[in-house]
Amino acid sequence: MGRCAVRLDRPTAGSVTINGREVTRLSRRALRPLRKDFHLVFQDPSSSLDPRMTVGAIVAQPLRLHRLASGDALRDRVAALPAQVGLRPELARRRPHELSGGQRQRVSIARALSVDPQLLVADEPTSALDVSVQASVLNLLADLQRERRFGCLFITHDLAAVEYLADRIAVMYLGQLVEQAPAAELFADPKHPYIQALLSAAPVPDPDAQRSRARIVLSGELPSPLDPPPGCRFHTRCPLAVDRCRTEPPALRGLRGLRGLAGGGGRQVSCHLVADDGTAPDASAP
Ligand code: SF4
Repeated sequence: MGRCAVRLDRPTAGSVTINGREVTRLSRRALRPLRKDFHLVFQDPSSSLDPRMTVGAIVAQPLRLHRLASGDALRDRVAALPAQVGLRPELARRRPHELSGGQRQRVSIARALSVDPQLLVADEPTSALDVSVQASVLNLLADLQRERRFGCLFITHDLAAVEYLADRIAVMYLGQLVEQAPAAELFADPKHPYIQALLSAAPVPDPDAQRSRARIVLSGELPSPLDPPPGCRFHTRCPLAVDRCRTEPPALRGLRGLRGLAGGGGRQVSCHLVADDGTAPDASAP
């Protein structure tokens, strides 16, 4: 989905609209001037940075490709970028293998931000890093997003990172959206049984609260996304599944009376048992 959002892949169905412009069917040529508006930060900075290039050349590359700066203006912009992502200026002369994992990911972020994109797709940007540097990269992304006001599609399995960073969360199971909502609402009151189970498994810092809360243990293996189960894709593991779930796929539908973000489509869930007013069964007490 992230690759489709930046048109590295073309979706087989649906559409991608950026700034009111449908980009799904644009030709490569028509897409080229828009490319600077959306960028990806990949999971593993070791494989997404050219080992033969210096840091300075890496962050200058998008500016050159999009012809956004040259000569002194290019030099000035490139010289300013390392400091903006918390790197010492002298690192601009180093190559990726001379940097730590956290520094390499900062270079990836600097490269993506060099052209002031409107949308940044960050694909598990901290999962290849030591735990000790994950927080600093998350803080950097949060600060940059606040200062520069770009949209950020942050893809992760890390619930704590989502809670810290996200304004709005869309949760997927086997390649399909099962719920989307403003972050605080989703964490306070998850409607979909899968998300209730996910949140029940996340550790909480208070040992008393951790001991006393209900834990939902999902049974069964995750089915293959290439051969998903019929009906609701979650029915093979859902503690609340009823007969209807085995044959009829639930639609992703909006819930009445629940706050949504402007233009964000409100709160949506795909489960037969969640009522239109948001009343949902508790998967910990089936
Ligand atoms: S539709 Fe049925 S199987 Fe799917 S999440 Fe809801 S209750 Fe569970």
